[in-house]
Amino acid sequence: MRVLITGAAGFLGSHLCDRFIAEGHTVVGMDNLITGNMDNIAHLMGHERFTFIKQDVSNYIYVPGPLDAVLHFASPASPNDYLQHPIPTLKVGSLGTHNTLGLAKAKGARYLLASTSEVYGDPEVNPQPETYWGHVNPIGPRGVYDEAKRFAEAMTLAYQRYHGLETRIVRIFNTYGPRMRLHDGRVVPNFIFQALSGQPLTVYGDGSQTRSFQFYSDLVEGVYRLLFSDEKLPVNIGNPQEMSILEFARKVIEVSGSSSEIVFVQPKDERITDDPKVRRPDISKAKRVLGWEPKVGLEEGLEKTIAFFRERVKQETQGA
Ligand code: UDP
Repeated sequence: MRVLITGAAGFLGSHLCDRFIAEGHTVVGMDNLITGNMDNIAHLMGHERFTFIKQDVSNYIYVPGPLDAVLHFASPASPNDYLQHPIPTLKVGSLGTHNTLGLAKAKGARYLLASTSEVYGDPEVNPQPETYWGHVNPIGPRGVYDEAKRFAEAMTLAYQRYHGLETRIVRIFNTYGPRMRLHDGRVVPNFIFQALSGQPLTVYGDGSQTRSFQFYSDLVEGVYRLLFSDEKLPVNIGNPQEMSILEFARKVIEVSGSSSEIVFVQPKDERITDDPKVRRPDISKAKRVLGWEPKVGLEEGLEKTIAFFRERVKQETQGA
């Protein structure tokens, strides 16, 4: 297959490029590099089955040649990033989704949208099944991401129903691993950076809010299976092992062997406005329709991620 992956230089996009290349496909990677980083795909540059196009998918997209699949993974994804880039976030979820759907239709390609557990907002049911409609504040600071992704899902279903396009939607829950940016502001890199540099781990609020963390390789496997499946409605892909952020901070300290302390902070900016109090995927649908479930436990995933960040922290502290 010849596949277009948007957000190719990002954390998940770059791992997907690797997977499709490893499976023998040809990949066209696209990214505007707002939050993506060419280092993530440097090893693919020059590969005979990989090409890269630097482009903002919120503008008209031109890709020469045939395409069999389009995977739309471009978007700022860390709350920090989308608060800093609110309008590009809204545009890539809306205009970018429309443009990539239009491209898929023109090429007769199958389409896969990267959606998010944020479509459930601050959920009133836990765990969240795909049938839950969500509890999102459209005018809060996180609305720029949540509503863009909700619009993206609606647009994708409209192309499926009105144009008969083959579409798939993955709702991605918190995912971590190598190639996340050290300073993207999310809890995993923040805590690991703090633990490795001997700084206190900053737990926002009282730390009782929960998340469920999935290692990137499980996500990649779920996305790959979903693309080739017959499931036309959204599917949650996440690890159902739920824990409080305070417990997570303790886990990072333990696995990294750090002597850092934990501090409770109340950020004065908008970072914790509408912060979901709980989040855990109901993955019964993924098990049923994809035969998928996560394989990598938190300790194993954290060890691999910490090893990756150790190098980055060393480079940074040595001024390299
Ligand atoms: N968080 C925290 N300390 C940090 C960064 C994040 O306590 O240094 C909390 C944040 O308030 C949220 C959770 O960790 O409750 C996950 O935040 P993240 O930014 O990773 O992503 P989210 O799941 O909110 O999209």
